[in-house]
Amino acid sequence: MKPQPGNKEFELIAWIRERAATHPHVRVGIGDDAAALDWPAKSCSLVAADMLLEGVHFTFPPATPRQVGRKALAVNLSDLAAMAAQPVAAFVTVALSRAHDPECARELHEGLNDLASEFGLALAGGDTNVWDGPLAVSVTAIGEAHERGPALRSGGRAGDWIMVTGSLGGSLAGHHLDFTPRVREALAIADAVELHSMIDISDGLAADLHHILDESSVGAVLFADRIPVNKELRDSADDRSPLDHALGDGEDFELLFTVSPTDGNKLLSHPPCDVRLSHIGELTEGGGCTLRMADGSSQLLGRMGWEHSM
Ligand code: ADP
Ligand code: MG
Repeated sequence: MKPQPGNKEFELIAWIRERAATHPHVRVGIGDDAAALDWPAKSCSLVAADMLLEGVHFTFPPATPRQVGRKALAVNLSDLAAMAAQPVAAFVTVALSRAHDPECARELHEGLNDLASEFGLALAGGDTNVWDGPLAVSVTAIGEAHERGPALRSGGRAGDWIMVTGSLGGSLAGHHLDFTPRVREALAIADAVELHSMIDISDGLAADLHHILDESSVGAVLFADRIPVNKELRDSADDRSPLDHALGDGEDFELLFTVSPTDGNKLLSHPPCDVRLSHIGELTEGGGCTLRMADGSSQLLGRMGWEHSM
């Protein structure tokens, strides 16, 4: 038998319900057995799910419950952004820990709900459980595709420019708990040009570029001196170079995408968003990924960063 929520969980759900962010597509949100969403005819829905586990993806401290709630939604919004989708609603399943302060659940939801309000999507349902294990939070986010359709990993073409938003590297030491998902940028880029392929950088530039290459059956050349390196990395003393961090570090949550050279030029000459866009390489016929250094030499770029000289 499924354990029934205690009074405290009912109180918590009532508290969440009072504050829940809304969206016009959500006809029925929190409070019934399932949410009811109105969906425009012919539009394509995109659904992403991601889970964060205490002890695996975060620990308290340094993370706060508010940051964890925010991040649990942010990683899903980053996945929706990577498909060029407008977020509509999120569903939150939590396994709360008896070991934590009861306020933890409220703070977690505040972090989540703040980001939902910021991006105009509804918090439309979920499930609340309590156990003796650590905290787990899983979010499912649903969005509406851009009118040009979803941006896939598989749409890259030889000759495409490879472009990236923002700057890369050093996220785990810095902003991975507070990053802003590139939803607005993805939609602005999709409005301006025809996206051929796109992915969000969660595992690192080298690893995520390989997903596009695999799915699109193409190769790539990256220009080392054009990769935008997070400026904090340039000043940090570390045994890995800033470029190495930019290629290998996960959790940047920037967008990596490919467009025709004409569209790439258009994005650089008329930027559709405030976040910097950089042209960092090109897709090529045939497999493999090459990193071209500033001195003209080349390295093979594997999934984990560069591997050996060519
Ligand atoms: P049921 O037993 O029918 O699943 P619940 O008591 O689990 O009902 O949930 C009641 C309502 O609260 C449902 O609409 C559900 O989607 C919502 N809900 C439960 N937990 C959460 C949560 N953590 N965040 C958002 N909505 C939630
Ligand atoms: Mg339930």
